[in-house]
Amino acid sequence: SAKAAPDYLPQYYADSSHDYRNFVGGRFIENTSGKIAVTNPATGALLGHIPDSDAAAVADAVSAARKAQSDWEKTPAIQRAKHLRAIAAKLRERRTDLADLIVREQGKIRSLAQIEVDFAADYIDYMAEWARRIEGEVLTSDRPGETVLLLRKPIGVVAGILAWNFPFFLIARKLAPALVTGNTIVIKPSEETPLNAFAFAELVAETDLPPGVFNLVGGRGATCGEALISHPDVDLITFTGSVKTGSHIMQVASRNLTRVNLELGGKAPTIVLADADLDLAAKAIYDSRIINTGQVCNCTERVYVEHPAHDALVARLKALFEATRYGDPSTESDVAMGPLINQAGLDKVNAAVEQAKKDGATIVCGGKIADLGQGFHFEPTIITGGRAEMNIMRQEIFGPVLPIQSVNDVDEAIALANDSNYGLTSAIFTRDINAALKASRELKFGETYINRESFEAMQGFHAGRRQSGIGGADGKHGLYEFMETHVVYMQG
Ligand code: NAD
Repeated sequence: SAKAAPDYLPQYYADSSHDYRNFVGGRFIENTSGKIAVTNPATGALLGHIPDSDAAAVADAVSAARKAQSDWEKTPAIQRAKHLRAIAAKLRERRTDLADLIVREQGKIRSLAQIEVDFAADYIDYMAEWARRIEGEVLTSDRPGETVLLLRKPIGVVAGILAWNFPFFLIARKLAPALVTGNTIVIKPSEETPLNAFAFAELVAETDLPPGVFNLVGGRGATCGEALISHPDVDLITFTGSVKTGSHIMQVASRNLTRVNLELGGKAPTIVLADADLDLAAKAIYDSRIINTGQVCNCTERVYVEHPAHDALVARLKALFEATRYGDPSTESDVAMGPLINQAGLDKVNAAVEQAKKDGATIVCGGKIADLGQGFHFEPTIITGGRAEMNIMRQEIFGPVLPIQSVNDVDEAIALANDSNYGLTSAIFTRDINAALKASRELKFGETYINRESFEAMQGFHAGRRQSGIGGADGKHGLYEFMETHVVYMQG
């Protein structure tokens, strides 16, 4: 395509000497600022460089998005949806290459990386389906001869700032609802895992998406991210990441009264009652804690199990945790777990476990940094003897460490689950329909999983309570977060 300079396209990301370029106004822009090296967390190998974009580069991207917005809004939604479907088709064409890139830059196992790419393509198609379903309202009026219309309109220019743990899916989660509703977008991926976003831009450049509708800037949070969130011409910031950054973004956004949508951290409780199918519960908790090496906002971060089931559950979990193979997913195909994202992530997990030991908790298995000669690996770890006041039961760990607390009954479990700064995901395992119904009534969380693993559906609504976020994503309600209501009073 003319938009993608022929000398620019890398040989599908195998070339570590490659300098990726920002995609702004439909063109790949030669980098004039510094560079950031991107490495494989399993090996330390260099994968390429992205621009260390400054405020001027961000301003160009916002201005390109603004310029494109009005025509994009006037484009019929069904045409916008066609552009989205073309992007989804490109992702499917390159699905294996993209998954491979995610494996290398994030340390995710290959099967999960493939699910992530395929899910992103399906998500874009799903959001495209909304083109013919966006509804306004017609209201009765207090006046004779008048009709009152509620029109749903795009908000304008969206800034999407992404975490590194599902980097490719998060692009889809921000871009697809923004674009189908008539917004334009500037995306800033995490500096830990940006290459898949640059690969995404290359695929977009091969489609006919009008210039400026989708823009990508690489850079650090404190500079590039900061410039984006403080830019007065951004109308909505949609952010996925930590509570700390989310809180900062809200403060900065308040200066321009920029709207925010925040998907933040979690400390998901899983309740296991004595009557539960313990094989099912153990497998689901294990999968939920091991997936992406425990680096998922809604995976089980703490377990409350009724006394009579405690030992049997722990025994089942121990067998699963101890059998877990981990290593470098870019060269080993049979590992269930890769490394943590970086040294800081490893230090944080290690410090949390060391603190739990000091607090008197018991290490059932694992409990320390795994020395594989390279990479940021931590042993799959189970901790029992958890108590409400311990940090391990209260703070997000973001690693393959499962703390467990024994409880007397479902009431105590629900009270402990709710006693948290976080409120994203919760789960319960029981065969008692009344206990399950009680949990769904009383758990103060955005989502509750009953007798299944925690993995949200694209037609649902993924939203955190308390410090886990503001607003939400997915489904109809997630889509409507990208629109504003305009009331028109029509006097006949
Ligand atoms: P993070 O907050 O460190 O970084 C997220 C993004 O914010 C990055 O792109 C970073 O560059 C950017 N950023 C940092 N400082 C900034 C600033 N001053 N201004 C603007 N942008 C800035 O989070 P992370 O470590 O990438 O992600 C892990 C966290 O994300 C975990 O807490 C996890 O629970 C959460 N998460 C939540 C969800 C959800 O849906 N609720 C999904 C995935 C991850």
